[in-house]
Parts: sequence; C-alpha cells; structure tokens
Amino acid sequence: MEKPLTQYINPNRPALHLKEYERVGGYSALRKALTMAPKDITNMVQEADLKGRGGAGFNTGMKWSFVPMDPDIGTKYLIANADEMEPGTFKDRLLMEGNPHQLIEGMIIAAYAIQANVSFIFLRWAYKKAARLLEQAIAEAYDAGYLGRPMGSTGYQLHLHLHTGVGRYICGEETALLNALEGKRATPRLKPPFPQISGLFGRPTIVNNVETLCNVPHIVNNGPDWFKALSNSGDAGTKLYGVSGRVKTPGIWELPLGTPMDQLLEDHAGGMQDGYRFRGALPGGASTDFLVTEHLKINLDYKSVASAGSRLGTGTMVVLDDRTCPVGFVHNLEHFFAQESCGWCSPCREGLPWTEKILRSIEDGRGTIQDLEILEQHTIQLGPGRTFCALAPGAMEPLQSALKYFREDFESHISQKKCPWR
Ligand code: NAD
Repeated sequence: MEKPLTQYINPNRPALHLKEYERVGGYSALRKALTMAPKDITNMVQEADLKGRGGAGFNTGMKWSFVPMDPDIGTKYLIANADEMEPGTFKDRLLMEGNPHQLIEGMIIAAYAIQANVSFIFLRWAYKKAARLLEQAIAEAYDAGYLGRPMGSTGYQLHLHLHTGVGRYICGEETALLNALEGKRATPRLKPPFPQISGLFGRPTIVNNVETLCNVPHIVNNGPDWFKALSNSGDAGTKLYGVSGRVKTPGIWELPLGTPMDQLLEDHAGGMQDGYRFRGALPGGASTDFLVTEHLKINLDYKSVASAGSRLGTGTMVVLDDRTCPVGFVHNLEHFFAQESCGWCSPCREGLPWTEKILRSIEDGRGTIQDLEILEQHTIQLGPGRTFCALAPGAMEPLQSALKYFREDFESHISQKKCPWR
C-alpha cells in the first residue's frame, strides 16, 4: 500500500522543514489545485469519500459544497480543528509535529476550494511543541509565498493564523470553537444554521479536523480512485489508528480504513502485556461504546463499528484489561466529562456530576442496586437529542456499554461493599 501520511508521524524523527517537504513533493498538490476550478476540487474530495477524521465521519467534500460560492458573498473562513482533547487521542499531534507543512498545504487547498481568504489553526493549549513547529512552518510558508501573497494566475491568496485555546474539551465542538475564537464564552451554538452558512463572525466557515485536511493534498495529487483503493472496506482511504492501555507497544499507525480490530491489537500494538488479558476497548477515544472479545474480528470502519454498537470516532482505541476495575475506569472518564461540561444546558451540567458521584460511591463500596437503575436512566436522559451538543451523549457511551458488558462487576462492588480490585 502506498501511504499518504505515515512516514512523517514517527515521533523520533525531526519535523520536515519546507525544503525537505518540497523535496518529497510538498506543495505540488497546491500548484495542481490552483489550475483547477474551486468547485472541481470540492467534487474531487466528495467523490473520494473522505470522511471527517475528527470523530463524526461526515463527508468532507459534501460539507464544503454547502458553502455559498456567490463571488460577492464577502469574507469566508477555513479553520483547522487542532483542539485534540478526546481522551486517548493524539494522532493530530503527531501529524502537526511530524509534518506541519502537510497540514498547511491541505488548508490552503481547502480554503481555495471554498474561496476563503482567512484561515486559523485552533490548537490545543497543551500542544506546545506543535505550536512551535507550526509557527516556524507558517513563517516559512509566508516567506515562500504560499501564504499572504497572490498565487499563480488565479491571484488567490490566503492568510493563516495560529490560535491556541485554553485547554477546554468543549472548544473542540465546532461551534464552541467559533465562539472561543470570537473571544466569547466557549459554549456551543444551535445548529442549524451550520457553520458552512453562518460560522465565524456570522460568515460562511468550514471547520475540518487536522487529519482530514492532511489527506487533501494526496487526494488532489492522486485522485479519488487511488484514495478509495487504499482502504480495506467500503470507506475510503487510510486512518491513523491508535492503541493505548496495557498493550506491549502502544502507539499510532496509519493503516487501511477497515483494518480488523485483532490485527491492530496484535500485529501493531503487540498484543496484551504479559499477565494482562483483554476485556474490552473504546474504539474511538473515550466517548464511544465498549467493544468486547466477541468484536475482535470486526473491521474498524464507520459502518462495521456502528453495527457492533459503537462508533469509530477518532479511531484511537483505549484498552481495558482484566486487572483494571471497569467501574473505576468509567468513573475516571465521567470525572473528566463532568469537569469539562461547559454548563450551558442543564442535563449535562447537572447530570454529569451526578453520574460521577454515583460511580464514585459504587467504586468506594457505598453503592446500592438502585444506583444502577439511576445510571441507566442517566444514559437515556443525557443521551442523543436530550442535550444541547454531543458532549453528554458521548460521555454516556462508555457508561451504557459498561453497564451492559461489565454489569457483574458493578454488582460485585455493591454486594461486596468494596472494589474487588483494591
Ligand atoms: P456532527 O455529526 O454534528 O457534525 C460533524 C460535522 O458535519 C460538522 O462539521 C457539521 O457542521 C457537519 N454536519 C453534520 N450534519 C450536517 C448537516 N445536516 N448539514 C450540514 N453540515 C452538517 O458531529 P459533531 O458534534 O461536530 O462532532 C461529534 C464528534 O466529535 C463525535 O463523533 C466525537 O467522536 C468527536 N470528538 C472528537 C474529539 C477530538 O479530540 N478529535 C473530541 C471530542 C469529540
């Protein structure tokens, strides 16, 4: 398989500077894109079936196609969502630290496709090394004339600003991100209108994940058929898959979309550490449902993971082993989500701390069997359609599946009045 991104995500390798990036074909896709009509690029990306790699999997080209292309529509924006705060997820960090120009090139092409002249990278506060490398790369791109100056015969030009967040999970939600960028409290906005129509400062805006944008130059250079052929499944392309937990070699690998789960765990993550057994895994960061032993053979693509009752999400798996308490594991996650609720809507603001409190009391041996019913109720009341954004429904996914697959562990905490793992 020819791999579009992998060779640059080795954390032991220094980031590619402009000259090195150009030597391996960097910015050739931009030159090609500038010879094409903007709508042809959007069509190409839509045909390639590049699904959003931030977690939701929405067709990228289709999203771009919603942006009004009326020539006198005025200012439009392109934003790279680099606020990677999903627990267990660190794929975008490796992309930015390994090859910042790949992201910049993807952004310029995406911005050209929607005819935006201003762009931002909204970067997670904690990603200091990525910030430093991106600053250098942006300066290099300005000096080389890829940014800030009219390019080629099109006269098209783009400005790019790096904006670092303040370390809140909600800022990764695209409309909360827009509010944060406007200097307002980072709460989500009602959708519709979607940002493609009314985004930053009310202007048409595209927000795309870093990994999504890094695929764009390769699609432009090689075409939709090449991109589709990279995958093992009905979904196109490759995916940066990750594994963390008690496996022998945790990490991130670029693999064909649809790589089987057991292959990822065994061939790439090296299998479980000696003395530990696999009990389950959250396939796409913390806000997804557990998959368990019966699912080990499934292909990790959007449809197959959904058929197994979970979501591919960010594709970065967090493994639960047999020597870790599942109640403590889920309590830890709910503690995070309760802390990160923005407080805008009541079910999330009140329900998540309550969920966390109940889980803590079960973990400490103070739980009752009625608590399990209350937790079940929470998974409904904080579930899809009951809250303002996807934060609380996402938080309920590991809980509802833990109650399904590890129920006996919750019950043994209650009957033994203690955590059996302590
Ligand atoms: P979403 O499905 O509402 O939207 C996904 C994208 O598609 C958005 O850009 C949205 O504007 C667009 N979209 C969706 N429906 C549309 C429509 N009808 N018309 C026009 N555009 C439309 O999902 P979301 O709330 O943006 O994101 C939730 C996902 O984020 C979860 O799946 C979760 O896995 C993921 N997530 C990722 C991280 C991370 O660090 N990468 C953190 C938290 C959550």
